[in-house]
Amino acid sequence: MINIKKIGLLNALDKGPVICAEGYLFEMERRGYLKANLFVPEVVLDNPQVVEQLHRDYVHAGSDVVLAFTYYVDREKLKVIGKEKLLEPMYYDALKIARKVSFETRTLFAGNIGQSNVWKPGDKEAERKTIAMFEEQAQWSKQGGVEFIIAETISFFGEACLALNAIKNVGLPAIVNLAIDVDGLLRDGYTPEDACKRLADLGADVVGLNCYRGPRTLLPVLKQVTEKVKSHVAALPVAYHTTENEPTFEVLSDGKGNTVFPTRLDPHVATRDEMAYFAQEAYKLGARFIGGCCGTAPYHVRSMAEALGRKVAASKYSPAELTKKQKQYFIPVATMHKKGSLDDKTAR
Ligand SMILES: [Zn+2]
Repeated sequence: MINIKKIGLLNALDKGPVICAEGYLFEMERRGYLKANLFVPEVVLDNPQVVEQLHRDYVHAGSDVVLAFTYYVDREKLKVIGKEKLLEPMYYDALKIARKVSFETRTLFAGNIGQSNVWKPGDKEAERKTIAMFEEQAQWSKQGGVEFIIAETISFFGEACLALNAIKNVGLPAIVNLAIDVDGLLRDGYTPEDACKRLADLGADVVGLNCYRGPRTLLPVLKQVTEKVKSHVAALPVAYHTTENEPTFEVLSDGKGNTVFPTRLDPHVATRDEMAYFAQEAYKLGARFIGGCCGTAPYHVRSMAEALGRKVAASKYSPAELTKKQKQYFIPVATMHKKGSLDDKTAR
């Protein structure tokens, strides 16, 4: 068994897959600790023990990485909701909680830079704000002791370059993950593979894709990237059934013309098998930093880890294969119903 903490991210990637659980915002929302639509993780200050437990749940399920829950903890977003004064306490506490779990579980400790929501091509004022935000986030993460930083959910190549610069300026390994919209391109027109190749050439240690797309619609884009890029590649789909017609979770619909993002996505949650299949296929394509983004729950992570050949702490409770004798005692209700041992009312 590799001591991942000792060898660090880059050596671990050379030896095999590194599994990374994400999806903190959606999981916290489902657990009742975060407001949908606003998606500001005040839970870090209000209920730090809940954040710590979710980090532990993901590690238990097989995550090699504890990612500080600082996604959307940025100056511009907090300014919009009038809570800018919470920025630094929230950031530092999120780092402190993640650091504790990472050190206790001997997993990798990562910082995070999310999309700015203000950057626009050619807008100098927006660029100045974005650079300032990315730089303070990278510096705080470095001071908080992270071992590398993941820039993610960025859908402009130009903005991804700014995030990469901010990470390189603090001297840490950089993962840069792009979010690919419905048309299959970055919003400033680059193809995902070109953008990833350029980011790798500019010094990103790992480039790849996260968020927006589920397993089925991320795989074809990942294939284009792994065919073009020689550096390590990351792949973290959302855990939702996206389709060729509705390739991102923001456009998933209820079949009556209404989109279901973000609070009525439940019928579209991907199964653990779909996420496991994705992990295997992504690995075959050459991706080495593999995980799940929005919608991912610990059971998805466990199935992905097991599909990649791992036995993790939560494997103790993976679904049981029943012997013939055990089946007599643990027979599912549906099977009993089929055999006619229960009437319709009882089965319901
Ligand atoms: Zn996501």
